[in-house]
Amino acid sequence: MARERTLAMIKPDVVKKNVLGPVFTAIEEAGLRPVALRRTQLSKSQAEGFYAVHRQRPFFGELTEFMSSGPAVLMVLEGEDAIGRWRELLGATNPAEAVDGTLRKRFGTNIQCNGFHGSDAPETAAFEIGYLFPGMDIVPA
Ligand code: ADP
Ligand code: MG
Repeated sequence: MARERTLAMIKPDVVKKNVLGPVFTAIEEAGLRPVALRRTQLSKSQAEGFYAVHRQRPFFGELTEFMSSGPAVLMVLEGEDAIGRWRELLGATNPAEAVDGTLRKRFGTNIQCNGFHGSDAPETAAFEIGYLFPGMDIVPA
């Protein structure tokens, strides 16, 4: 598997729960390294741009309201198979259906406020990293 970068986000529901410690432990134990990190509150229009692929879905308005409702932690994670590994750590989109021990199962709230985002392919990772870390020179791990 290739060395990759993925855009990882700790969404506002989990930031509010103040449980960054176990999240970073899971990242480290999976052999991933945060190479860029920032905490910010997305505007509604930033959230809409980030989730533009979902704009036709019925939950788009509520989803982007939630995503801009409080601070989020944005990260670029780097490592072998980073995209798949991070999504594996997250578990299924719906925390209620996620495997025991996954981050969404442990800390997610519901299918919408599911705690975390992870890019799903190299192309989306490149878009999302450029969108949320524009013009940044990210030093490799
Ligand atoms: P994932 O984040 O696992 O890649 P999707 O790309 O399908 O999932 O959906 C993007 C985000 O939209 C999810 O992380 C979740 O916050 C929200 N979402 C997905 N499905 C629903 C749904 N049925 N109702 C409300 N929100 C949803
Ligand atoms: Mg997705």
